Amino acid sequence: MSLIDGKAIAAENREKTAKRVAEFIEKYGRAPKLTVIRVGNDQASIVYVRNKKTACEAAGMLSEVIEMPEETEESFLLAKIAELNADDTVDGILVQLPLPRHISERAVIKAISPEKDVDCFHPQNAGLIFNLEEATFLPCTPAGVMELLHHENVKISGKNAVVVGRSNIVGKPVALLLLSENATVTVCHSRTENLAEVTRSADILVSAVGKAGFITADMVKEGAVVIDVGINRDANGKLCGDVDFNEVAKKASLITPVPGGVGPMTITMLLSNTVNAAFAAEERKKQK
Ligand code: NDP
Repeated sequence: MSLIDGKAIAAENREKTAKRVAEFIEKYGRAPKLTVIRVGNDQASIVYVRNKKTACEAAGMLSEVIEMPEETEESFLLAKIAELNADDTVDGILVQLPLPRHISERAVIKAISPEKDVDCFHPQNAGLIFNLEEATFLPCTPAGVMELLHHENVKISGKNAVVVGRSNIVGKPVALLLLSENATVTVCHSRTENLAEVTRSADILVSAVGKAGFITADMVKEGAVVIDVGINRDANGKLCGDVDFNEVAKKASLITPVPGGVGPMTITMLLSNTVNAAFAAEERKKQK
């Protein structure tokens, strides 16, 4: 078994992004800028937003965090997004999810200009996963999964890929990206019958379920590549993925750890999307 070192691959990738940022600054005399809006006091969100800001700054980009109280009205948030959409100095807009229950996530996602939607959640950008050649952005976690596979030279074409989980954020887009690279893809979910039988057919197994210890060794084929997207806490409160790492690692040819696997790639792809957005914005300005 070999470990896929997401932290090291992310660091390599961020260096490349920092070089693109330097090129952008040289060419356009300004740095790409990401604005993140956080509403409320979700503890995990506070950490995620802080990490995004630090990562932006480390890559030479500008980063602004707008904090709003839990009781913020949806109309106020939407008005702020409209203001940022119109602001030429802002390249990427990200509203940290989850939002307080009284605010519609769909309404907020749809309000962000697709050109600045660096999370790639807007329906227009999500739809472009069907037409990758037209896409400026790919959704961060799924794109991070693909980067890990590419970095490790995993053969995707013709292989059986099984994705467990079908969320719009992870499962479905990962499945489409694998399909676009000619894998034979099966998507599993909570109604899948004989799940272990299906997962055992996987040359590439991606788990995005959100349950600690969910993927056990008997569900994995000898020599499979196992990508663990899950972020959970085990019984001792320790961070872990969906995969029973110690046992599955004995069978897998390649496996991602948690932490240090997919996680670091998500912010890495966000940085790269923000630089893409900035270059695309300058291109549009030229064409006006
Ligand atoms: P969701 O809760 O939206 O989706 C979970 C999926 O798992 C659903 O499709 C659900 O099926 C499926 N599922 C649940 N129970 C079973 C079961 N018994 N058998 C088969 N499938 C099952 O989660 P997300 O996709 O948002 O996230 C998944 C995990 O990935 C979480 O741990 C999350 O924290 C992590 N994550 C990690 C990121 C990273 O950067 N590393 C980024 C985003 C998420 P059904 O649709 O039928 O309900």
